[in-house]
Amino acid sequence: MFLERNQDALKREGFSDINMLIEDSLYELNEAQVEKLEADQYQMEEQAEIENAIKSYEEARNQVICVNCRRAILIPAIVNHKSVNSCPACGFYTTESCLHQILQAANAHADHCTGSIGYGLEAGSDDTILAACNQCDLWDLFSL
Ligand SMILES: [Zn+2]
Ligand SMILES: [Zn+2]
Repeated sequence: MFLERNQDALKREGFSDINMLIEDSLYELNEAQVEKLEADQYQMEEQAEIENAIKSYEEARNQVICVNCRRAILIPAIVNHKSVNSCPACGFYTTESCLHQILQAANAHADHCTGSIGYGLEAGSDDTILAACNQCDLWDLFSL
């Protein structure tokens, strides 16, 4: 059986030699094109991967854990027509420049105190953040 099938196949191949040659050259052409497309595709994917990596690196670099509750990452939001970084967990928000000052102050504070700083809007204000430590007498104001 096996031999018969092989012979049939050989016969078929013999008959379709010319067709196969044509098909082969067409196939080669296509293959070259496909290879080029694949190479382009690969390059594009590689480029996209690099861009994604840079993007997520920059996102990770910009990710700041909420200075108030430390339970969530601050996300961009708009509050009172200001673009701010807002905490989805506790509602704390601050502008980029204010956040920068807060982080600097928090770092300096961490050098001499292990207490945790609580942040909140100063009573009656919507643009001043009050920072107070639960252990030392730290008492800071930050303008949004
Ligand atoms: Zn928070
Ligand atoms: Zn303190």
